[in-house]
Amino acid sequence: MNIVLMGLPGAGKGTQADRIVEKYDIPHISTGDMFRAAIKDGTELGLKAKSFMDNGALVPDEVTIGIVRERLSKEDCKEGFLLDGFPRTVPQAEALESLLADLGKGIEHVVNIQVEQDELIARLTGRWICRECGTAYHTVFNPPQVAGLCDKDGTELYQREDDKPETVTKRLEVNMKQTQPLLDFYESKSVLTNINGQQDIQQVFADIDALLKGGRG
Ligand code: ADP
Ligand code: ADP
Repeated sequence: MNIVLMGLPGAGKGTQADRIVEKYDIPHISTGDMFRAAIKDGTELGLKAKSFMDNGALVPDEVTIGIVRERLSKEDCKEGFLLDGFPRTVPQAEALESLLADLGKGIEHVVNIQVEQDELIARLTGRWICRECGTAYHTVFNPPQVAGLCDKDGTELYQREDDKPETVTKRLEVNMKQTQPLLDFYESKSVLTNINGQQDIQQVFADIDALLKGGRG
């Protein structure tokens, strides 16, 4: 079960990824989470990524492809994996294809969660994230049981620097430009499925689950 989750920032990738990896017992590989962890730990990778991320720009392909290559070669990816936030560019998709081919693997499903721009802005600017486990909440659409604290571990929630309104618009713009060629790339390989992301969280998951359960085509 090798899956790529796509969708603009705020589409609900992280929210759905949590549910998918729990049900299918595969690792959740989020390049955004990996970069944020590297920044928090003050590693060399974190230093490289930070300036790009703070500006809402993409981290250069060679850096991003390098960390994904390393991660996918790990033992826990043998039975499958869920990629979230990667690939984001056609060169990344091509690199992914060739590195999977080297491992005797391929992508079975590319799940594209579709949400309109106004809704994306509303979701991103109201998003609060757990400092410890990364679970995303929304002040209005998906509030935690106790305001400001994670339901799972009680840790304090924070707002991402790049979820500020100024950065959000730039991120959406950058992403939209990059995404279309990528969707075309996967469409041409007959692995792309569009999912209506503008439904409640449970319904979006039900649609994704039906697709994954059904296997290919
Ligand atoms: P992404 O990983 O694609 O950037 P997230 O999963 O972090 O998106 O979701 C973005 C924000 O929208 C979060 O605040 C989340 O709680 C909220 N959200 C996710 N899915 C839905 C949904 N189906 N309806 C309303 N809000 C949602
Ligand atoms: P979102 O919630 O915006 O989908 P992510 O958490 O996936 O955001 O990514 C946050 C930031 O990390 C991006 O704006 C970008 O700077 C960097 N990043 C994540 N994934 C990639 C990637 N595949 N290629 C380049 N940059 C990436």
